[in-house]
Amino acid sequence: MPAHALRARAEVDLGAVRANVRELRSRAPRSELMAVMKSDGYGHGMLPCARAARQAGASWLGTATPEEALALRAGGDRGRLLCWLWTPGGPWREAVEADVDVSASGLWAIEEIVEAARAAGRSARVHLKADTGLGRNGCQPADWPALVAAARAAEAEGALRVTGIWSHFACADEPGHPANAAQLEAFDEALATAARAGLDPEVRHLANSPATLTLPASHFDLVRPGVSVYGLSPSPEVGIAAELGLRPAMTFSASLAQVKRVPSGHGVSYGHTYVTPAGTTLALVPAGYADGVPRHASDTGPVLVAGKWRTIAGRVAMDQFVVDLGGDSAAVGDRAVLFGPGDLGEPTAEDWARAVGTISYEIVTRIGARVPRVYT
Ligand code: PLP
Repeated sequence: MPAHALRARAEVDLGAVRANVRELRSRAPRSELMAVMKSDGYGHGMLPCARAARQAGASWLGTATPEEALALRAGGDRGRLLCWLWTPGGPWREAVEADVDVSASGLWAIEEIVEAARAAGRSARVHLKADTGLGRNGCQPADWPALVAAARAAEAEGALRVTGIWSHFACADEPGHPANAAQLEAFDEALATAARAGLDPEVRHLANSPATLTLPASHFDLVRPGVSVYGLSPSPEVGIAAELGLRPAMTFSASLAQVKRVPSGHGVSYGHTYVTPAGTTLALVPAGYADGVPRHASDTGPVLVAGKWRTIAGRVAMDQFVVDLGGDSAAVGDRAVLFGPGDLGEPTAEDWARAVGTISYEIVTRIGARVPRVYT
């Protein structure tokens, strides 16, 4: 048995990633698809997931940082690739040299990208980002004409080519939210301003997972899903994964490291927040908050052990936690499944998100670096 079969491990079903990409493409049949790979493929492992997404027809990949984009290039990816989190002093020259499209939300970014293009001796490919209402990254409407004019001037000099115009939703995970229509309208205005200035980008894009699944008017030339590529629903309002035709790709499990009988009144784990109500059997799961099990899941997180959902007993420690099996029995080496697609009756990442008051995005991206990813 390989060592990883006993430790906490994250099995990643690349067939599920491919099936999810195909499902998402069928939801936006007239658009290209950019599979979002940031944060190590939402914790699933960036390179294997990138290859799977490409195989299923993702013509673009997206990352937040240029370092992530360069890691994709170093791993052999040669397709279209956008990184969007511009930070001063980033490896922009390397990104331009590696044919990575980059994003600009303001004049300062255009200036640095032009410098990087000169240093690289080639033209940069730039996506201009409009803030259509998210209030985070992106250019405000009042500053948009100046950004467009600067990009147009740099384009005329041959320093860059505006290959994309784009924006990001604030509330698409609530399909009825009025901000969605307002952002669509603001995006149309930003596109019209750019067109009047003579910009003719290859791709206009706005839709994340929830918009890809619920808002066809936002699909434009390209959709940009992330969490749904990995088979997770963006929110309960959008639906549960199975209803959306998505299959969760990750199963997070560990083998029991100890099983022991204890008497009634036995305190369990740090702080004794759980005390056994009767003589019982405790099982030790070798996964803790350093592996991505939220400490918030102490006394609440669900785990499938010996055929039943159990609740974590006591505090989650850095490397381990305990479940109380009550009258049931289990053996060292038996599998404890924290979350997966649900086929074995195990909880899903969405169940975990609900149990600990977060979103499924955080549950999968926080799986720790020491947890081996095993691809199936
Ligand atoms: N586009 C951008 C700019 C993002 O930051 C993200 C992720 O947050 C996505 C697309 C993908 O979003 P989601 O995972 O909701 O599909």
